[in-house]
Amino acid sequence: MPSGIEILKLLPKTNCGDCGQPTCLAFAMNIAAGKMELAACPHVSEEARAALAESSAPPIREVTIGTGPDKVTVGGETVLFRHEKTFFHKPGLAVLITDAMNDAEIDARIAAFAAHRFDRVGLVLSAELVAVQSTTGDTERFAATAKKAAEKAAGVILMADSPGVMEAGLSAVAAKRPLIYAAGRNNADDMADLALKYQCPLAVTAEDLAALAALVQRLTAKGVKDIVLDCRSPSMSAILLNQTAVRRLALKREKSLGYPTICFPARTAGGFLEEMLAANLAVAKYAGIVVLSDIRGEGIFPLLISRLNIYTDPQRPMMTAQGLYPINNPKESSPLLVTSNFSLTYFIVSGEMEASRIPSWLLVLDTEGLSVLTAWAAGKFAGDLVAGLMKKTGIAEKLAEKRVVIPGYVAVISGELEEELGDGWEVIVGPREAAHIPRFLRDMAGTA
Ligand code: SF4
Repeated sequence: MPSGIEILKLLPKTNCGDCGQPTCLAFAMNIAAGKMELAACPHVSEEARAALAESSAPPIREVTIGTGPDKVTVGGETVLFRHEKTFFHKPGLAVLITDAMNDAEIDARIAAFAAHRFDRVGLVLSAELVAVQSTTGDTERFAATAKKAAEKAAGVILMADSPGVMEAGLSAVAAKRPLIYAAGRNNADDMADLALKYQCPLAVTAEDLAALAALVQRLTAKGVKDIVLDCRSPSMSAILLNQTAVRRLALKREKSLGYPTICFPARTAGGFLEEMLAANLAVAKYAGIVVLSDIRGEGIFPLLISRLNIYTDPQRPMMTAQGLYPINNPKESSPLLVTSNFSLTYFIVSGEMEASRIPSWLLVLDTEGLSVLTAWAAGKFAGDLVAGLMKKTGIAEKLAEKRVVIPGYVAVISGELEEELGDGWEVIVGPREAAHIPRFLRDMAGTA
């Protein structure tokens, strides 16, 4: 996004006030801060509108694979380092199948792809894409394999050198808007024609960045807009070097490299462990899509967690909804515990409560995503707030004994909470560490 001063240069500078702002400068500053839209000024010229749209587009183009709610969007990034703002679109993770595999192998790999889904901090983590590679040159086989993959995956990558084979695959799954992989020096024009005909994104591959940029220019001249770059990195150091170079140059508005990238960590050729290390490196260093040679739990789970950590907004804590959560089918004799709505705290505490197998209630207070102690220090985990939420949820009617357990770190609020609750409530100070909750609950239940 251009600065306020850069935007001001494009405005009429008459300070007429029709946009609701006293001056054009104030209006420009509001646009730069993302608080107003250019459309609010009725006097801005078409040329200025077009110039602003172009200069405010992200330096790395957004590219979408697939359609509908499950589509995978990559790119659209604006910074080199996550802490400067945030990263917007997590890289799509793909697993590779080839049409040379027999049906049982293909089915097993697609089944593994579908089965490796993990619930964590309220999110479902999984790979999204299946890459289907033609190695036999058999058009019917390629189309049938692509169709099979498209039934299970949010998006498909079609990999073939021959335009004829690629078109067979596209005919089968074009409605899924697959990524075409790839246009190279010898087939660029034919692949561009297919991308335009089927309205699909196109990956481009070349031996080095200069050749890649030249090829991109050739494709954009033909009208291809949605492009994904393959730098053909053969080693971990090459992944680091190429990915960083592409991101830096794109942020400097080198248009021919302003696209998301695709990485194949198996090209590092060092076996499963090195492939997974290379995949993690690619995720950390700007890859738009990472294609894995196989999906195994010990590899995909750490990769999904790594991606989750890097692609969460550092300026916005992850939060769980405020409310009362039943755990292990609680009854009226079950204990009530309180915690904050910082997602990590909630999932650790609820996980320990579940593991204890003791039926219990968990009251989650909205602390704006702060952990218990930080929330207390900020005045967001106070006795009156906990008491207010308890009344709002009507927990008193669900319990036979009026007892509430607060985290050990906020023992200091026990007196205030007891006072706020009144009416015979007992406030018990629980453990400081979540790991001690199961023992604490068993002691409370008298079963230790
Ligand atoms: S409506 Fe346009 S010209 Fe008038 S003050 Fe606002 S920005 Fe300036």
